[in-house]
Amino acid sequence: MSHTIAPVLGEATIQELRESVRGEVVTAADDGYAEACRIWNGAYDGHVPALVVRCTGAADVIAAVGFARSNDLTIAVRGGGHSVAGFSTVDGGIVIDLSPMSAVSVDPEARRARVGGGAVWADVDHETQAHGLATTGGLVSTTGVAGFSLGGGIGWTMRKFGLACDNLAAADVVTADGRLLHASETEHGDLVWGLRGGGGNFGIVTQFEFDLHPLGPMIYAGPIFYPAAAAHDLLRTFRGWAPEAPDEVTAVVNLTTAPPLPVIPEEWHGKKIAAFLAASTGPIDEGDALVSAVRGVAEPIADLLGPMPYHAIQTLLDPLWPKGIHAYFKATNLARLDDDLVDRLCGIHLAAPGPQCEIHVHQMGGAVGRVADGATAFAERSMPFVLNAVTGWHDPNAGTAHKDWARRVIAAASDASTGRAYVNFLGDGDAALTAYGEETYARLVSLKDAYDPTNVFRLNQNIEPAAAGS
Ligand SMILES: Cc1cc2nc3c(=O)[nH]c(=O)nc-3n(C[C@H](O)[C@H](O)[C@H](O)COP(=O)(O)OP(=O)(O)OC[C@H]3O[C@@H](n4cnc5c(N)ncnc54)[C@H](O)[C@@H]3O)c2cc1C
Repeated sequence: MSHTIAPVLGEATIQELRESVRGEVVTAADDGYAEACRIWNGAYDGHVPALVVRCTGAADVIAAVGFARSNDLTIAVRGGGHSVAGFSTVDGGIVIDLSPMSAVSVDPEARRARVGGGAVWADVDHETQAHGLATTGGLVSTTGVAGFSLGGGIGWTMRKFGLACDNLAAADVVTADGRLLHASETEHGDLVWGLRGGGGNFGIVTQFEFDLHPLGPMIYAGPIFYPAAAAHDLLRTFRGWAPEAPDEVTAVVNLTTAPPLPVIPEEWHGKKIAAFLAASTGPIDEGDALVSAVRGVAEPIADLLGPMPYHAIQTLLDPLWPKGIHAYFKATNLARLDDDLVDRLCGIHLAAPGPQCEIHVHQMGGAVGRVADGATAFAERSMPFVLNAVTGWHDPNAGTAHKDWARRVIAAASDASTGRAYVNFLGDGDAALTAYGEETYARLVSLKDAYDPTNVFRLNQNIEPAAAGS
């Protein structure tokens, strides 16, 4: 995260911007500045942008990009504001905030949704479910569609419908030089390749078009909670079950601490547990058979896996991850989940420094793995599992212990790692080359040279243009 000195912008200069946009321009002199600066990750609340432009449409975005360039301001682009690495705020620069652009419209015949660049997944699910349709969204419904989809997009329906970026059919993009491009397979196809996994490096997406699929309103989904003592058995059973499971089901194992929820018996609150969470896009009455091999690993603390509204699984985890919590994630793609790694993960789980320290092992494959490596910018397709160390805390002094723990989780997996990582699960800002690998990274650099040669959009897992390095 850069900490540039705030340039002095005269009131007359800011007035010019106010007159050229329809949305609000918020500076430190305005009421509501503190709220306008906040992003999801409370660890970045101390950042002091020179101004926040709350855009109402593509014209505002074009004006804001032009203003930033004329006044030499670093740009932070904000969709849902969930960047774990704090990319959607900046000291002394301009936040181009698309959150007012959250409209979603659905064409049920064509099974397509048009989604504003500042929408969150709750906005999409609300409109699409009205037609019995869905597309792959996040595990937390307040996550922004933009950053999520541009980085890849891992969600409950991905093994059947693909990642969010695989459902991205087209996008309207404001480029660094202020053009508004419509990118699809047939127009600026190179740009669409980069938008499917390359993050916000190539421009600001003002509208997305996603493919939709029939789903819901009821599906088979939910969590089963086991004692931490069952974590070894759960991970070993999951390891064997996951690669063989049909595409309909997508699951994750979460080594965590029981939250104080009424669905979990009180004596377990605050104790270490191992959860198996799954969702199926298939017929509800076939759900039990899909997961029976895993379900039997141990006596559960609570078994909530069964028929539930799609809307319910999409919002189930929201209360655990509210805006303002401090957070850090670190991740790696796994080539395998061998016994040594299972032992190490179970041990590190028990040594977690706080209740919101979670080890997620995501089941990959299915439709995600059938897209050829290199067909999109998403780093890797063939890995069977993604390991994500997720931490959250409220005491500002607890950050170091939580970050160290997350780093220990990922270091423990170095033998089993493919060396690649999913960029949206990285809490550090300098990881792009390692995450994508040399081949994809080189192609991303060529695209960056074509669309953003001076690195105007650099607060992201940054693809540095070749010109910048010469
Ligand atoms: C609680 C929580 C749960 C999560 N769950 C999941 C999950 O289930 N699956 C998963 O895959 N990921 C998940 N993530 C990670 C998530 O995908 C990333 O944090 C993602 O970047 C969030 O997107 P956003 O628009 O909310 O973020 P923002 O902070 O607004 O932006 C993130 C990045 O995208 C860029 N960006 C934002 N909007 C635009 C735009 N309109 N055009 C161009 N660039 C833009 C920003 O500049 C920034 O670099 C989760 C994160 C959190 C905090």
